[in-house]
Amino acid sequence: MKKELHIAFDDTDSLKGSCTTHLATLIVHEIFDQVDFIDFPNLIRLNPNIPHKTRGNGAVAIRIEGDNSDLEVVRDVVITTVKKMARLEDENTNPGIAFVSNAIPKEVKQFSRRAMWDVISIPEAEEFNSLANVELIKLGNGRGIIGALGAIGNPLEDDFTYEHLAYRTAKNFGTKRMIDRESIFAADKATPLTFSNVDYEYNSVMITPRGADPVFAGIRGETFVEVMKAWSLVKPLEEIAMLMVYRTNQHTNQHFIKEFPINQLKPHLSVVVHGTISKKPHYIEGSHLIFSIRDGTDEIDCAAYEPTKRFRGELSNLTIGDEVTVFGGVRPAGKNHPMTINIERLRVSSLVKQFSYENPFCEKCGARLKSAGKNKGFKCQKCSAVYREKKQIEKELPRKISIKEYLPPIIAHRHLTKPFERMNRNNKNKQIGKSDIIETLKLLINFKKSS
Ligand code: ATP
Repeated sequence: MKKELHIAFDDTDSLKGSCTTHLATLIVHEIFDQVDFIDFPNLIRLNPNIPHKTRGNGAVAIRIEGDNSDLEVVRDVVITTVKKMARLEDENTNPGIAFVSNAIPKEVKQFSRRAMWDVISIPEAEEFNSLANVELIKLGNGRGIIGALGAIGNPLEDDFTYEHLAYRTAKNFGTKRMIDRESIFAADKATPLTFSNVDYEYNSVMITPRGADPVFAGIRGETFVEVMKAWSLVKPLEEIAMLMVYRTNQHTNQHFIKEFPINQLKPHLSVVVHGTISKKPHYIEGSHLIFSIRDGTDEIDCAAYEPTKRFRGELSNLTIGDEVTVFGGVRPAGKNHPMTINIERLRVSSLVKQFSYENPFCEKCGARLKSAGKNKGFKCQKCSAVYREKKQIEKELPRKISIKEYLPPIIAHRHLTKPFERMNRNNKNKQIGKSDIIETLKLLINFKKSS
């Protein structure tokens, strides 16, 4: 009888190269003929504000079914490949592997939800070893089991997207990515269900990362058909080693699920906080914008950092009394700054009125009046008329900010940021046929032979 096996791993990479999806793609290639895939491999992004991440705090889950003996072979392949490929010589690389047979326990799903916003310890994750159908394997200090469990417990039953990843050959790692720039713009135009390929505002191509990692390009979109179509229109100018499509929680805002009163905020959490502006926005050295918000419990600084570009200018129009919801990561206090929310998006829910005040005009000669002193009314310097009862003229000023949601430009988005392009999109409950998954994976794995 066939059994389900969920496999996940994390913390296999370092900044010097390698990346967890690369390892996962190698494993998918290796085990594809042995078992049936019940989903695309899942790329799960967890709390982006935790201190230990290398880049985007991503972990991978592979979901398959097969006979006991085949699953046993796969288990060995996964352990051997992670051991062989992980950068264990780097003390910051501490891989963890998780296996769950058959149904994913609800406690693991809850853990995964929490891993989206909280900071979790290794022993807390390790407790899941006591569940009968969960196996955790630690290498180094094993911190990766947190991410592995987080990935395994999120079978993407809520909103999700896809990312098509193309990988470089080892000889090109660390060199500039060679790609026909025009083809990226053409692919973007031809595939309305892909997004964030290009930041047109800052004329920046977003599909090619800049680091030393093995990813050549990643194309994000709403359907696997659309991301594959976009890739077929892109012209790489260097050899491509492998392709894979991941189903992912990227660009779904899944890390913003927990609302906090200000006095409960702790470093490294991903938080949603409602408050009223209590200190006006101002720029500090480095061109970062800072303001404070207050709720019934406390006050905290909020920052829009320099890389968020025009987002800072928009938020600089907030003023004391405006009500907002801040979505962001909590930065611990440093030598020169208190604990601060690093703003990833901001919703304005109400704006105070702002006024200007001017002296009134003389009824006799039309000249602008001068104050006659505190509570003494006005006098005309031209014709000497005196007005004891007149008041200053109040004018309501237009506010340069609106009641709506504000987001940084695409160049400053995080992997989980839901961009404006997808604001009204949600793929929850979209079914994918098992045969579509298997056929698509086959195509991706065999691309070298067919090209
Ligand atoms: P890449 O994006 O290149 O895959 P990364 O940014 O995912 O790299 P890792 O090297 O995987 O970085 O490091 C992240 C570490 O943080 C892992 O050990 C993971 O288990 C752990 N981790 C993930 N989520 C949490 C969390 N919510 N609380 C505590 N630790 C976490």
